[in-house]
Amino acid sequence: MNAERPRSVIVTGGTKGIGKGIAKGFADAGYAVLVVSRNAAEADAVAKELGGGATGFAADVADTDSTKAMAEAALERYGAIDVLCANAGIFPAVKLGDMTAADFDHVIGVNLKGTFLSVSAVLPAMKAAGKGRIVLTSSITGPITGFPGWAHYGASKAGQLGFMRTAAIELAPFAITVNAVMPGNIMTEGLDGMGQDYIDGMCASIPMRRLGVVADIAGAALYFASDAANYVTGQTIVVDGGQVLPEGAGAMAAMDG
Ligand code: NAP
Repeated sequence: MNAERPRSVIVTGGTKGIGKGIAKGFADAGYAVLVVSRNAAEADAVAKELGGGATGFAADVADTDSTKAMAEAALERYGAIDVLCANAGIFPAVKLGDMTAADFDHVIGVNLKGTFLSVSAVLPAMKAAGKGRIVLTSSITGPITGFPGWAHYGASKAGQLGFMRTAAIELAPFAITVNAVMPGNIMTEGLDGMGQDYIDGMCASIPMRRLGVVADIAGAALYFASDAANYVTGQTIVVDGGQVLPEGAGAMAAMDG
């Protein structure tokens, strides 16, 4: 990469939770970070907290013009877009009997179409540069597991991986890689409303007996953005403390036996 300027990264959903952790990880690694959320004041505040050339930008990833403006801002401020972390996502729970078409469209619109629009927006700059790194935040929920209330969410997270595999092929000739992190249960503001019972229940099903922390996800995203991953594209890393491994509750019980 260019030695004249710091590498730059756009982190969507960078004001809270996993995205904020990713933004901090990249800032600590010397990247200039564009912190993106729909709330300009929060994006600016997080950017100020991060320092190191980070700036905030308000964009809705579900909106084409908004994502284009986001990419233009990064290019104008930092001279290039080295990395996109397409992380913004929502997970409102609603069971199938109550799920409306509008509920479904909303979640798919932000999580899956938002991924497509964010990636599309950075492509002109990355193609012109002849390099780029795209890191998606998917989930174990959908691609591997399910959870009641999250049929639409699971579909969006599995959909991201389907999108990624073809995007990785199409973009490989431009030296643009597309990979995905699949977090398990990570402690974030988004889980605040789920309650202690949910958290305790989750810990009981995780071999490492704890939820993940946002730095766990930042580490995987930084790997995909690093030179160590130059030849890695279309791949996933599950970061879940072993959550998807046990063959049911019996395997967890046998750990203590
Ligand atoms: P969170 O704490 O609720 O934060 C979500 C972030 O996305 C916020 O910055 C939010 O800011 C932003 N956002 C939401 N809608 C947006 C939109 N339309 N346009 C732009 N930004 C938007 O969520 P989180 O738990 O960190 O989750 C982040 C990602 O990790 C999601 O893709 C989620 O599916 C994935 N994930 C999370 C977990 C977990 O355990 N937490 C596990 C697996 C996967 P504004 O609302 O102000 O726009």
